[in-house]
Amino acid sequence: MLYETNNPPRLPVKSEKFMTAILLQGREIADEIKREVRDEITRLSEENGIRPGLTAVRVGEDPASSVYVGNKVKTSHELGIASEHVHLDADTTHGELLQIVQKLNARDDVDGILVQLPLPRHIDEAAILEAIDPAKDVDGFHPVNVGRLHQGVRSLVPCTPAGVIEILKRSDIDIAGKHAVVVGRSNIVGKPMAALLLRENATVTICHSRTADLPSITRQADILVAAIGRAGFVRGEHIREGAVVIDVGINSVSDRAFAAELFSEADLPKRLAAIENRGATLVGDVNPKEAIEKAAYFTPVPGGVGLLTVAMLMKNTVDAAKTRRKI
Ligand code: NDP
Repeated sequence: MLYETNNPPRLPVKSEKFMTAILLQGREIADEIKREVRDEITRLSEENGIRPGLTAVRVGEDPASSVYVGNKVKTSHELGIASEHVHLDADTTHGELLQIVQKLNARDDVDGILVQLPLPRHIDEAAILEAIDPAKDVDGFHPVNVGRLHQGVRSLVPCTPAGVIEILKRSDIDIAGKHAVVVGRSNIVGKPMAALLLRENATVTICHSRTADLPSITRQADILVAAIGRAGFVRGEHIREGAVVIDVGINSVSDRAFAAELFSEADLPKRLAAIENRGATLVGDVNPKEAIEKAAYFTPVPGGVGLLTVAMLMKNTVDAAKTRRKI
């Protein structure tokens, strides 16, 4: 049986008799953040006469990028951000993209610039990200913002790990003093996640593909964050009884037998129907069937961390607009 947090009380305490994890639903938290952002945008408009602007740049025809950018632009419109989508041909050169970024840097009506990754192989991704004005770097990937994050100085922070912190805080889960183990050390998720948890005074361990005896380390986690990119990789043996398990992963599963290993009896029919109808179902980097038996709290996929990423991008855009304009 699953206990969901979208019915009050919002923050249930896992009691002895509840033997499965409480699901931390991302939608409620993402909606709350979006409401706050909308209110802030209204206030900025009424009191300061400004409307934050966000430009998303996409190069080529990657279908996933198209969906991600579409969601970001749509949500921006809904919240009152002046958003624009620059879609460039796959054969756009490095120099052409650089010029576009420089023009966006110079435009006063653009508060946030996001260049959707991955870029085609002929473009130097790191150089493009470095060319973005750090004050407009709403993805938080510029080395200046990365450095500030590690110094514990206020900065624009990568959206997905920032969303994880919001889930924990808004679910009243203590971070300070807890042992947080992050599996994954990418620049987009793992490393900034570790830095943010450290900023919240957790004791942080980072694991990666060369970590020896991973389960013995992850089993020490009070808070376990999986950002690996491998479907259902984190199993029951990795999880301490009563831990908080945050699943950042987004993977597609199309194999019915594998789906049966991943999903509980209650969830499986819906998942098999998705495979039947759409060819695949989404799963994170954690085996949900095993996690809900061991964890106290668990973020579902879909419906968990993924929903926070766009909400945090909106928040970053408003923060960038205020900081740039010294509000
Ligand atoms: P990367 O591929 O960039 O990084 C994966 C990390 O996992 C690496 O550090 C890698 O280690 C580590 N890893 C791989 N295999 C193992 C293993 N067997 N044991 C321990 N560690 C391992 O992925 P991202 O960080 O970009 O993304 C991670 C996941 O999060 C993906 O599923 C992605 O789809 C999802 N994601 C979700 C977002 C959201 O909005 N919810 C946003 C961004 C990503 P090493 O460094 O040694 O190679």
